[in-house]
Amino acid sequence: TSFGFKEVSEDEKGKLVGNVFSSVASSYDLMNDLMSVGLHRLWKDRLVNQMHPFPGMKHLDVAGGTGDVAFRILENINNISRRALQEGFEDDLKAETQVYVCDINPKMLNVGKKRAAERGLGESRSLIWVEGDAEALSFEDGSMDGYTIAFGIRNVTHIEKALAEAYRVLKRGGRFLCLELSHVEIPIFKELYDYYSFSVIPAVGQLVANDRESYQYLVESIRRFPPQEKFASMIKDAGFKKVEYENLVGGVVAIHSGLKL
Ligand code: SAM
Repeated sequence: TSFGFKEVSEDEKGKLVGNVFSSVASSYDLMNDLMSVGLHRLWKDRLVNQMHPFPGMKHLDVAGGTGDVAFRILENINNISRRALQEGFEDDLKAETQVYVCDINPKMLNVGKKRAAERGLGESRSLIWVEGDAEALSFEDGSMDGYTIAFGIRNVTHIEKALAEAYRVLKRGGRFLCLELSHVEIPIFKELYDYYSFSVIPAVGQLVANDRESYQYLVESIRRFPPQEKFASMIKDAGFKKVEYENLVGGVVAIHSGLKL
């Protein structure tokens, strides 16, 4: 494949992203650890803490890939349920928890299902894998308490459509959270980060996954993604209230949040 990064049309983008994640699915989790030096785990923990999961919750993790965010949500809920049982509050646990992992790429979902089994979540009826597009979700209006998207919205063709869908499927009071690689504006750190992303990441991609182009594409897609303030205003335009964001590691990643009121 030859990627004309800057000239890629919107229609082609979807197909291109599909190719990228099919080719990286098997090495995806290892590469995440390598490239973020393990930090993506802490960032995902933070995202899930901000969601405040609860037993009986209906949660949708979009672009859920190999399940990292969904596993954390469900494990968090399982811990709360265990404590509630110990303390005799089983009445609070009657509503069924449903955590949906939605991704456009079946290969990523298949890797995720295997990982769920390894984590002891393979038999969990609360974990539901759905092949689907962030821009046209198959879920009902007002059906979800929470919506997360981690390192995913950067890849969708029309960000506005994905945000509109997030708003549609959430209940009133439902929370939207987005974890995404963002923009570093701190002098010197910015130059170092540029060097890291343009030189080191494609080289590691070549070495570990034998695929420089896919990782080159990922770096380009970070640069094209709207800066923090602009993305926050897009979330507001979709209808969300109390829109905020938090930079982590100087803006290497940002967590944007909003409520449907
Ligand atoms: N959320 C996971 C994580 O944090 O480890 C996976 C992130 S991975 C970088 C991006 C994922 O977005 C891929 O699994 C890809 O298949 C998915 N994706 C890309 N475009 C999508 C779309 N339009 N709808 C749903 N998923 C999409």
